[in-house]
Amino acid sequence: MNDCLFCKIVAGQIPSKKVYEDEHTFAFEDIDPKAPTHVLIIPKEHVVDLKNATHKDAEIIGRCHLAAAEIARERKIEDGYRTILNVGPKSGQSVFHLHVHLLGGRDLHWPPG
Ligand code: 5GP
Ligand code: ZN
Repeated sequence: MNDCLFCKIVAGQIPSKKVYEDEHTFAFEDIDPKAPTHVLIIPKEHVVDLKNATHKDAEIIGRCHLAAAEIARERKIEDGYRTILNVGPKSGQSVFHLHVHLLGGRDLHWPPG
């Protein structure tokens, strides 16, 4: 097992509040939520980030976004939510296993900080 925090969450070695799971994706509550809904959707397989993704990762990146849309539908936040991929340290990326942030349940300002 590699030393990746999110791989450990998928494997159940680190506890998380699971929101959704299917064959390819796993979603859980962010430990430090920035909105009433703040869910992280990740590929079960380790992908570092968008910068390092290749065409073979196209389907899983799409699946993560579709899972986010489904969670937003279930939570009835479709009047305004945001999916975010932080890429690189200057964007605030701190975990290097690709994750889609789903933020919603409050007014979201544009542009983000
Ligand atoms: P990034 O800053 O890399 O885009 O996002 C990483 C996110 O993971 C942050 O929003 C942070 O709060 C969350 N996070 C970091 N460690 C843990 C953890 O152990 N459990 C959960 N549920 N979220 C975490
Ligand atoms: Zn990983």
